This record gives sequence, C-alpha cells and structure tokens, in this order.
Amino acid sequence: MRADEETEIVVPAGGPVRQWLRVASDGGPVDLGAVDPRSTPGLPAAAGEGKERKLWARRQVELIGAGLGRQQEMLFATAAAGAHAAHASTPTRGGAGLGRGRPARLLLVLQAMDCGGKDGTVKRVAGAMNPLGLHIRSFGPPTRQELRHDFLWRIRRALPPPGYVGVFNRSHYEDVLVARVDALVPEQTWRSRYDQINAFERELVDGGVTVVKVMLHISPEEQARRLAQRLTDPTKHWKYQPSDLDSRARWDDYQAAYAEALGRCDTDAAPWFVVPADRKWYRDWAVAHLLRETFEGLDLGYPAAGFDVERELRRLASGGGDG
Ligand code: AMP
Ligand code: MG
Repeated sequence: MRADEETEIVVPAGGPVRQWLRVASDGGPVDLGAVDPRSTPGLPAAAGEGKERKLWARRQVELIGAGLGRQQEMLFATAAAGAHAAHASTPTRGGAGLGRGRPARLLLVLQAMDCGGKDGTVKRVAGAMNPLGLHIRSFGPPTRQELRHDFLWRIRRALPPPGYVGVFNRSHYEDVLVARVDALVPEQTWRSRYDQINAFERELVDGGVTVVKVMLHISPEEQARRLAQRLTDPTKHWKYQPSDLDSRARWDDYQAAYAEALGRCDTDAAPWFVVPADRKWYRDWAVAHLLRETFEGLDLGYPAAGFDVERELRRLASGGGDG
C-alpha cells in the first residue's frame, strides 16, 4: 500500500510518544544536547525509508487529526451539556453523568526558538480540529498594560474556557527565557518565577485543565536554513524580524535557559516534552500523537441527553409544536 493510502493509525513503536519524549529531569537543568533534533523517536517501521516517511507521516497526521476532532467534540459537548444542565430550571432526565468530575479543558503550550515550528504545528495539528472548539493565543512582548500586572496576569486571561482546547504559541515560559537572556528583569525576579509557574500550573490542573507542554527542539543549522528561506522568499518576509538574529547570537544562553526551565517546571501534573523538530513531518506526527494519547487518558464520551429523547421524537412527529 502507498504511504498516503494508509487508512489506519499506526501507534508509535516501543510505547507511547509520551514516554519517548518526556524530558528526563531530576529538577536540575535538562540535557538538551542529548536530544538530536533530527532524530525520530517512536517512529514505527511502517513509516518506510527516506522520503517515504514524510508522505507516510503526513497521512498519519490526517488520520490522527480526525480522531482528535472527535475527542475535541466530546470535550466541547460535555462542557456544553454540563452548563446547560446547571442552568436548567427543572431537573433534567438522563443527565446523571453531567457535572460529574471537573469541567475539562486541554492546554497545549508550545515553546521554541525562532523558526522552531510553532506556527506550523498550530496549522497542521490544531488545524485538524474544529475551529469552534479551539482557543489559540500567541504571546509577544508584553504591552504597557500587561507590564502593570504580574507576569501570569495575561496568561490567566488567555486560558481556554471549559470544553475548549487551548493552544499557547509562546507562554509564561518567555518570562524565564527571553526575560532571563535579555535581562529584562533582575535575576532574583526570574529565579522566583519557576516556583510561581509550578504553583500556577498545579492550580490549573486542580481546576480541570490538562496541561501538555512541548518544546520544539531545532538545531542552529536548521534555524539558519529556515531564516535564510524567510529572507530570500518575499512571501516569508513577514515572518522575519531583525531581532531574530540577535536571539540567534544568544543561542547557548537560550539553550541554558530552556534547560533550566524544563528541568525546574517538569512535573507529573504538567509535564514537559521535547520534540525533535528539524524534520517538520516528524514534529507534526509526534505532537499529534502526544495529543491523541493525552485525550485517550481523559476517557471522554458523549454526554447523555439532558431531555427526554422519546418525548421530543413524539413532539416532532406530531408537528413539532408544544403538544
Ligand atoms: P513571534 O513568536 O515570532 O511572533 O515573536 C514574539 C516575540 O515576543 C518573541 O521575540 C518573544 O521573545 C517575545 N516575547 C514573548 N513573550 C515575551 C515576554 N514575556 N517578554 C518579552 N518578550 C516576549
Ligand atoms: Mg518570530
């Protein structure tokens, strides 16, 4: 069978990508040098060889995406039904399962160096889901208003509502990355943020948010290739900023900042994953599986009707009035 005619999702080889990609941390800095940005952990033999793998992975992402779309719909439906039941003036029948547990939502946090593929991942992986249930937010330099508050203020306001899948394109981690490398705040300030981030994420998880944090890990060589593409293709100039080269010049400082942020803030409640991202097709495949595995852990289903289905069918048959 041709790779792009595959009809089944092939699970990662040797166990879930969640296990392959979870950072190895003991609280100290993560060894990012140990992760080869061109590697393809968990890619099964079914992917084939060489260029075939790209076609195969793209097709797999489509298949996984369809499943993600269904999972997302269940999340949305469960939250909507819960809200409906909570607002109904009369007790509903068949709604026993509603309101059970916490109002679920999922938050995917994407971090990477410039050209790391955050936008591409949003397009390819989040793009496979229903836009109605997505809550995508990007974070740039804080505005003057945002600077008047603590660093988590704008993050809290951007959280996905119950039932939504949120995607953060950059996040509160910038406040221990660029803020550290560019010395935007004193060391004592950014140092104190690791504990604040852990407390904040604990609070999110306790509130029913499933948090998945992904660092897209590219090599400096791949970044140079992508920056060159952005500079030579006029349709990509909008993606380029001269300051990208200043950040690039601080590559090692950024890697050190990432290593510490990932090590300090990898928790079982809100784990960090490092996705080798020099190959875009692997990156998308891995993030799609990470989301698939995360959704499966939520054990979602469609909510029971909050009304008497038989009665509604009889009403519809008798003319659809108040009868
Ligand atoms: P881009 O993702 O290419 O649109 O770029 C967004 C820019 O905003 C990057 O240069 C980030 O470093 C910067 N940025 C994001 N969050 C912060 C922050 N909290 N403090 C300072 N700069 C930030
Ligand atoms: Mg940029």
